[in-house]
Amino acid sequence: MMSKEMASARLDAVFRHIDANKDGFLRRVMDYVRHPSISAQNIGVAEVAALLVDMLGELGLEAETVPTAGHPMVLGRWEKKPGAPTILLYGHYDVQPPDPLDAWLSPPFEPTIRDGRIYARGIGDNKGQHFAQLLAIESHLKVHGELPCNVIVLLEGEEEIGSPRIADFVAKHRDRLKADFVVTADGAIHDSGAPTIKYGVRGIASFELRAKHASRDVHSGNFGGVVPNPVWTLVHLLATMKTPAGEITIEGSHDAIVPPTELELAAAARLPHDLDAAKAKLGLLRLDEPAGRGYYDRLMFHPTLTINGLHGGYGGPGMKTVLPCEAFVKCDIRLVEAMTPDDVLAKVEAHVKKHAPDVEFISRGGMLPSRVPMTSPYGAVIRSAIELAQGVTPLEYPCTGGSLPDYVFTKILGVSAFVVPYANADEANHAPNENMKIDCFFNGIRTGAALLDRVGASLKKTS
Ligand SMILES: [Zn+2]
Repeated sequence: MMSKEMASARLDAVFRHIDANKDGFLRRVMDYVRHPSISAQNIGVAEVAALLVDMLGELGLEAETVPTAGHPMVLGRWEKKPGAPTILLYGHYDVQPPDPLDAWLSPPFEPTIRDGRIYARGIGDNKGQHFAQLLAIESHLKVHGELPCNVIVLLEGEEEIGSPRIADFVAKHRDRLKADFVVTADGAIHDSGAPTIKYGVRGIASFELRAKHASRDVHSGNFGGVVPNPVWTLVHLLATMKTPAGEITIEGSHDAIVPPTELELAAAARLPHDLDAAKAKLGLLRLDEPAGRGYYDRLMFHPTLTINGLHGGYGGPGMKTVLPCEAFVKCDIRLVEAMTPDDVLAKVEAHVKKHAPDVEFISRGGMLPSRVPMTSPYGAVIRSAIELAQGVTPLEYPCTGGSLPDYVFTKILGVSAFVVPYANADEANHAPNENMKIDCFFNGIRTGAALLDRVGASLKKTS
């Protein structure tokens, strides 16, 4: 669908600057991803944080690293437009370890261009994407000497190890992060190449159950019928938690669910999807119970109870007539708005106490879900920015199936947060040969530029 909107002369000038500087931008992003910043192995992280502070400073932002108990946050700000709204751009400068190294066609930290793509660890996840945002800022400043709105840039150094400190950081520095809304350019656009806007994420709660009866494994003939079997204990307990028809039966666990709005249901139903192709790709004959739910409806608006692993007794070759003494299960529950890990885990614990009091319950914590209403004026601003920059209407996801810490912005900072990915769907993030299409990188710069323009032109300050 082509957009009928036209860029203003001010934005057109920025687009022309971007077009005229493509070679330099490409060279600079390749220089950036050349620096390893592997948080899991503490390789190069502090160095890249320092490099970013220099880069943000050269752009014309006030920049600093803010120490945490782990890797530092990088914070940049341009707030010279009193009365104008403030957008917070979040990204992360750490990357995944590159192994297995021999599966890379070119070394992970020697960025290489092949077939219209840049190959390097971190180019898609997430350095290339936030670098595109930074170049958008730079382009506005170069062309007009100012930005259309106020900007805060927050770049985290621990996203790839699960963002263990971002919630505390945001809570502690709430005042310094005061913005009207948050945009994260991370993840991938649709398979078809269509740009996307994501309004929410599911949360997660994890737990383990352990059953132990005898003090040691025993003979199933000499003790079977006398000694209780912990694997059966867990199987029976698990069967009280979910019916074969797919209904989760943990008492009270669904109390907090806010059902999707008509708008959200309609948006989910509009997303293009080929169910037969998806089933064929995974070798599936059927979808999970309950039947009768739409594909995205399942991923966006319903919690799940997944058995991640169930272990106990003998699993080796042949037979072994053993009656094991202990068994374990690990589970996760994907949460939808407005469930919380604390509440759900308390309900699971109470359920276990009631149905199998001799089973040990161990909480493994979780992450809150997040969902911004699709009627948000910021959603409309992002949509119009994408249309101006790319000439197409984006796909809008009310929620995504996976979990990201968006709640730190929506629930701790108290502002709307959106994910607007710039990378191609086959970016191979976390895998060998991570890549970003050069076209996606430039679309990202243009989209970032249009976003700043639209925020300045069409929004009132609320914070
Ligand atoms: Zn990642």
